[in-house]
Amino acid sequence: MGRRPMTQGITVLGATGSIGMSTLDVLRRHQDRFRVVALSGNSRLDRLLEQCIEFQPSYVSVADERSAESLDIELQRHGLHTIRIVTGVEGLELISGLPQISHVMAAIVGAAGLRPALAAARAGKTILLANKEALVMSGQIFMDIAQRHGAKLLPIDSEHNAIFQCMPPVHEQAINWRSLGVKKILLTASGGPFRKTPLEELRFMSPAQAVAHPNWSMGRKISVDSASMMNKGLEVIEACWLFNCTPDQIEVVVHPQSIIHSMVEYIDGSVLAQLGNPDMRTPIAHALAWPERIVSGVGSLDLFAVAKLDFERADFNRYPCLRLAMDAMRAGGIATAVLNAANEIAVQAFLMEQIGFTDIPSVIEERLARMPSSPSDSLEAIFKADEWARSDAQQHVARLMN
Ligand code: NAD
Ligand code: MG
Repeated sequence: MGRRPMTQGITVLGATGSIGMSTLDVLRRHQDRFRVVALSGNSRLDRLLEQCIEFQPSYVSVADERSAESLDIELQRHGLHTIRIVTGVEGLELISGLPQISHVMAAIVGAAGLRPALAAARAGKTILLANKEALVMSGQIFMDIAQRHGAKLLPIDSEHNAIFQCMPPVHEQAINWRSLGVKKILLTASGGPFRKTPLEELRFMSPAQAVAHPNWSMGRKISVDSASMMNKGLEVIEACWLFNCTPDQIEVVVHPQSIIHSMVEYIDGSVLAQLGNPDMRTPIAHALAWPERIVSGVGSLDLFAVAKLDFERADFNRYPCLRLAMDAMRAGGIATAVLNAANEIAVQAFLMEQIGFTDIPSVIEERLARMPSSPSDSLEAIFKADEWARSDAQQHVARLMN
């Protein structure tokens, strides 16, 4: 009690993204508590440079040699001669397992985040997991590796962070529902920007309309996922792994205000909820300090301004991606890796205006129908399924463009 913790080293993967920037904003307020040892960024080198100047990490990881060379010139120009630049997947893996860090913020988007997150798990780090795609692709393998190496997984996704806060405090990874009296998880969803759009107009929705989320400001991929509710589907899968349950123990509740971030129902009828302003700095600060609390920069929730909270059932006709994800989780095996890969290709094609919004579920559904019956017991098998689904989805996209 009252003891000031030692400075903890942290690696921020995906530092230039939406979650990465919010993470650095929280860390900026707690420089006595955390030292940023490593940063990674893929495309926004200007932003990465600014972050290097401010936080002076020991390592920075970029995509390739070309980016490394141009960043190096800038770092030298700013007198930053000691920052070591690493590249590619190996670079990301290296900075995720450094001995001088205890925490890794896993905030790379998509399948690219899996290998570095696994490296952090193998090194037994405390992993602040924003990259939900890692668990969707290889939940069982990821959880096993984390457990074997004593890595702690703390969810950053606002819903999972809320559920974690509402669950009874268990300090091991696996949650035994029966002995803890947990009945079900109520996973909230905003419904995204197209909650009220007439169904027949959905196919005309543009990327700009899809990424204009009513409550949250996020990266482009997750914003499209929110509009299609694939994001909620990925979150159902993520919750099954994090909280040791099946899709049937999870109920999706559309809650357009995004004030309740999710709930846990107990067998005695109690329902515990976590509320707050929709700002990712709250879950980030929670996970950074857990089991303590630190300020995040997020203002108080003004319930009088919110005034009212609404709830609706999720409509699978409006959000076919949600059903596809839940079915993939029930099917098990490589299905969720195939779902994730096909979704990444479809979303990218939609953002590039190559396919329409309602083509996204078609591209995914067809991959799930056509997927080979291969095992899912190794990382190699997962990456093979990922690769197959990407190239098969790409061919579907090419057909739709003609
Ligand atoms: P973003 O697009 O804003 O940022 C992504 C980051 O990953 C960037 O730093 C980018 O440089 C890096 N990156 C992209 N491709 C890469 C690659 N191939 N190799 C290495 N690095 C790469 O995304 P975001 O919104 O910050 O989301 C990050 C993750 O967090 C996603 O998995 C998302 O689902 C999850 N998440 C985000 C939010 C949110 O509010 N933004 C909320 C919950 C969960
Ligand atoms: Mg979420």
